[in-house]
Amino acid sequence: MLRGKTVIVTGAAKGIGRAIAKKFAEAGANIVLNYRSRIDDEIVKEIESFGVECMPYKADVSDFKEAESLVKAAKEKFGSVDVLVNNAGITKDGLIMRMSEDDFDSVIKTNLKGAFNTIRAASNIMLKQRSGAIINMSSVSGLIGNVGQANYSASKAGLIGLTKSAARELAARGVTVNAIAPGFISTDMTAVLSDNIKDEMMKNIPLKRFGEAEDVAKAAVFLAENRYITGQVLNVDGGMVMN
Ligand code: NAP
Repeated sequence: MLRGKTVIVTGAAKGIGRAIAKKFAEAGANIVLNYRSRIDDEIVKEIESFGVECMPYKADVSDFKEAESLVKAAKEKFGSVDVLVNNAGITKDGLIMRMSEDDFDSVIKTNLKGAFNTIRAASNIMLKQRSGAIINMSSVSGLIGNVGQANYSASKAGLIGLTKSAARELAARGVTVNAIAPGFISTDMTAVLSDNIKDEMMKNIPLKRFGEAEDVAKAAVFLAENRYITGQVLNVDGGMVMN
């Protein structure tokens, strides 16, 4: 079903984005691998080893024009944009009373506006195609909040609103829009947390282990393949949040 399709993954140089890009490649899709600062040759080789094409594309998705050029380049290279995974994200944690204006703005600009920027560009193409799947990477922090993450939680909660509105706007033409809310996944983003914080988090995970990027990647492929799920948030969190 994904064979020969075009999949854009933002922030795909490492962590969850990298695992998602590989999972879609394994399913036979051509990959547009967005990165901001740098990528290693290894990831391109890994993706190509599945017999698909990989186009690395440098763009800061928080910049409207750069996000637009990313989507345009994907369409020019492969002729379609079938799946867009808005994975790029940053944290700038701190308690509200100490959080700088810049730390608030930059997290919103990357995590929330970045997704709007790419959706704005891709929705036009998907509407014309009358098909497409958009997947936005939210977080359990966007569902239940987190001490020291007012900016991050606000951006991830905002992504859920964006997901549901886009799902309603695009549904008539067969385009689905969903969000994934990962819990604690072992990547560079969480490696910086202290053992104390990790121990506290573990207490709230019924499955008693941290997730792997692969766990999230499988959820992304599932949401892209299933054509009758839209406007939903899929928690990949070991049971942390049960709706
Ligand atoms: P990560 O290892 O820090 O990777 C994030 C990636 O996003 C990096 O490759 C980064 O590139 C890229 N990025 C950041 N800003 C960007 C921009 N403006 N334009 C393009 N790319 C940009 O983080 P991760 O753990 O894999 O997280 C991936 C996503 O999952 C994020 O949205 C995160 O909020 C979400 N998430 C993660 C967890 C978790 O436990 N790890 C839990 C819930 C949600 P540079 O390195 O070049 O900046």
